[in-house]
Amino acid sequence: MTTKPRIAVHKFASCDGCQLAFLNLGETLLELSTLVDIAHFAEAGPVSPAAKVDIAFVEGSIGMPEDCERIQRVRANSRLLVTIGACATAGGLQSLRNLADGQGWLAAVYARPDYIAALATTTPISAHVKVDFELWGCPVSGRQVLTALRALLNGVRPLDDNEKVCMDCKRSQTVCTLVTKGVACLGPVTRSGCGAICPRFGRDCYACYGPAENMNAPALRRRFTGLGLLPEAIDRRFLSFNAAAPAFVAAARKDEHD
Ligand code: SF4
Ligand code: SF4
Repeated sequence: MTTKPRIAVHKFASCDGCQLAFLNLGETLLELSTLVDIAHFAEAGPVSPAAKVDIAFVEGSIGMPEDCERIQRVRANSRLLVTIGACATAGGLQSLRNLADGQGWLAAVYARPDYIAALATTTPISAHVKVDFELWGCPVSGRQVLTALRALLNGVRPLDDNEKVCMDCKRSQTVCTLVTKGVACLGPVTRSGCGAICPRFGRDCYACYGPAENMNAPALRRRFTGLGLLPEAIDRRFLSFNAAAPAFVAAARKDEHD
């Protein structure tokens, strides 16, 4: 009798949206459970955080002292570690606090900020342990997760789909919102994977899938300036869901580009 590969889904600082990509698989998730043993996935039921597994999917960023120790244990217990989503892969929205006075915010929000043991910065998983593959998106899609899992179960490295959202627009014959509506679409610098959902519904892309390959940020900044955006507004466009992604941090250094 062959044993099934074991997988785990771990959560750190996040909204749970990427775990929902698993749960929303519905009947496919039931089918998946015939192919793999789900050893730990608290949101779905199984709880065994110290289980040794073949593949660990990790959601969320590292923002608390205990997270630093827990991610080391997850890594030690996992043959392969895959990050799922913007928080785990590029810090997420919460990494915006790295650019602000975090202690000042704590003092403004909590009556006793000394009770809050938050780290000075929040960081992606790769800043702490080796990551074998990263899935981008806020949130990831079930299709991404299944495609990566299928590849890994077959001993193949998943395809790193890092071409631009604009290519999805072309493939789906979506009319370009940047060209026809003059809105500040980030599709030219954002990796595909979502099927250009936002432009297909007539709105601009706000880069939730993170930086694409060979992005030309200076050219897009000039285009956005032409649309009337001030430098600070352009910075904010780059620094949102993937605020700790090095390519977007560099793109937001407006003094180097304007
Ligand atoms: S709508 Fe945005 S993503 Fe689509 S082609 Fe235009 S610039 Fe690119
Ligand atoms: S079009 Fe852009 S903002 Fe919309 S889901 Fe895709 S990557 Fe995210």
